[in-house]
This record gives sequence, structure tokens and C-alpha cells, in this order.
Amino acid sequence: MTNIHHGQRECTDLAGALTAFREGAPVVLAPDPRRPGGGCLLVALETLRADALSFARRHTHGLISVLLRDRQQQGIHLFLANDGDASEALEPALAAALPVLLRALAHDPAGAQHLASDVGAPFISLSGAGSLSWPDSEQVVSALASCLGMADAALICSLFDDNGRCLQGDEVAAFATSHGLALLHPDDLDGDEHALPAPRVQRLATSRLPTRHGEFTMHAFSSVVDGAEHAVLVWGDVDGHDEVLVRLHSECLTGDVLGSLRCDCGTQLEMSLSRIAAAPCGVLIYLRGHEGRGIGFSHKVRAYALQDDGLDTVDANVALGLPVDARSFDCAADILLNLGVRSVSLLSNNPRKKAELARAGMPVVRVLSVVPPSNGENVRYLITKKKRMGHDLPFD
Ligand SMILES: [Zn+2]
Repeated sequence: MTNIHHGQRECTDLAGALTAFREGAPVVLAPDPRRPGGGCLLVALETLRADALSFARRHTHGLISVLLRDRQQQGIHLFLANDGDASEALEPALAAALPVLLRALAHDPAGAQHLASDVGAPFISLSGAGSLSWPDSEQVVSALASCLGMADAALICSLFDDNGRCLQGDEVAAFATSHGLALLHPDDLDGDEHALPAPRVQRLATSRLPTRHGEFTMHAFSSVVDGAEHAVLVWGDVDGHDEVLVRLHSECLTGDVLGSLRCDCGTQLEMSLSRIAAAPCGVLIYLRGHEGRGIGFSHKVRAYALQDDGLDTVDANVALGLPVDARSFDCAADILLNLGVRSVSLLSNNPRKKAELARAGMPVVRVLSVVPPSNGENVRYLITKKKRMGHDLPFD
């Protein structure tokens, strides 16, 4: 990862650039005098606003490149002007639709395939990986996104004057000043001193969630690592508190929603919410993307079919060539840190969760088991979890 260290140049404004990037406003990147090329504009894709897109279009002759998070996927060139004349406004329908479509790409680079048909030629052309040659800008975008816990994707475009000439040297700083934009230099993002922390999660939205257990505060968090959106239910005041009652619940569609008897997930979810609601404070993190211990829904269904043929839950995953447990709890630790939790009492039968949280910097003071009732369908599964995965369960 490229680290950011605070500016050695009076003219650059790292704090302003971070704020602008977070808010989807343009950041001006000065050219590196050691390399050919002029100045450019960077705008975060995830928070891209219509006014920022139209500003970029106006000052780049309508030639805008979209750097996607997954560099192996395609980058996109947008041509948002006829013959480089970007003085006329975009058609209103396109001006309204485009930021929405582009923002969606921040977490779904593969969706670029559909963008051309959604927006239509001649505005967009797709270009393969590597053909967006912006080495400095790519590094700067990655560092800004990493510092802010945002998706590593942005608009990148060269700055032109009204005569179609690329802005060079001091002209770039003058452009930033005249438009009140933050200016960065590629050297502002190099070296390892004063590195800013790189959170793996971002809090996106908050509301109340009344439930049959009581009223929780619900946050939507997203993972910078894989784009998964997690539901976080907070009970009472956890900020700055120790030994907060915490459940990390891995998503299980069949057990949580459909009443499946094949596993104990739904019961553990209900029991955990009820215990948290009976405590002074607590947190339930509902971890999306954890289906089938991280192998995904369709693989879980395949594993179920193998279990009906006699394999246990561990051997079924192995037979499919998949990990027995592919889940990461790093994001859960970061979410707890973000909420101000100082240490946890963990509601879990799984010793791995305790170890993973502790490794990721969240102390676990104690582990409290959540013992579900067994039934004819899940007793073998529970015994396998005890014998082969070390779960703390009273079944033999
Ligand atoms: Zn389950």
C-alpha cells in the first residue's frame, strides 16, 4: 500500500484533498516534473456527484477515464462531448443518469460491461486493463481510497485549457487556486512516515430498527476489502465501553430466514438478539458474504446435497475443493473499533472467532456459549462442529 505523508510543499493540501475525495468533489493532481504529461483531475467514483462530473467534463474536453477498483477488469473511456466541445450542457436525462450508473461501478467493476448499453454510444467506449495509463494517478487514487476506507475507483482526466492544450507545470496550480480545488502532488503520497490508518470498513447509513426484542440502532457498514455490506445492530451505549456483549453472526439465508433445520444459525441469531437486548449494551454484527462459512450460497447448496449422500459438513466442503472455513472476521473487528468498543464478551461457540478478533486488535474478555436446541436434522452437524471444528457444544 502507498502511504500518505503530510505535504512538504506549501502549495499542496492533503487534508483538503482527502475531504474533497470523500465528498466526491474534484481533486487536482499536479504533474510530476520528472515525467511527461500534464495535470489531471481525480474524483472518487463512489461519491461522484453530478456537479463534479459536469465540472470534469467542462475542463477535460469531455474526455473522461474511469479507473475501476479491479484493475483486471476493464477501464472505461467516456466521451462526453462532440468533437471535444464540452461547452454545451449534457442532455438532461444523461446528466441525471450517468453519475448513478458510474457510482454503481465503484463496488461492481464487472458492471462496466453493461454501462455501454445502459447509456449508449457514442458516449462510452470500453478499454481493456492496462490501457488507462495513469501510473501516478492510480497510486494516488489507491492511497486516498485506502485512507478513507472507500472503493479504489475514480474518474481520472487530463486538464485542458479552452484551446485544447493540456495544462502544464504552474498552470495546474493556478487552475486549482482559481477554482478553489485542493491540489496534490504525486510526492505527497510516497514513503512510510506519518502513515494514516487504513480502515477496512466504512459506516454508510444509520437508522433505528424496532424489533420484537426491542429497538436497536442499525448501521450499514461496507467492507473496503470485498464490498460486502454488513448490518450492525447496536443496543444501548457502546462507545468507550469494555466487555460489550457482541455476537458476530455469519449470514445464513436458509437458517436465518427460511427456518431450515439443517443448521443452528436461526436459533443462535434469535437467542443472541434476545440476550443482547437483556444486557445494558451490546452489538450484533450480521456479516454478509459468509454463507456456508464463506463459500457462497450455491456452493452451500451443493455441500448440502453431498451431506445427504453421507458426507459431513467439513468433508462436503473439501470434496467440492473449497475451504472448510473461508470467513474473515477482520471487518467485524474494524466495525467494533469504529463503534468505540474497547473489549468484548463474545457470544459464540466458535473458538476461531475469539482468536480472529483478538488478532485483529479487538480484545475478547470472555466467551459465552449460545447453545441451540438440537433436532433430528441438525444433531449430526452440531456434533461435527464440536468434534472437527472445536466448537464449545454439549453434544456427543
Ligand atoms: Zn446456517
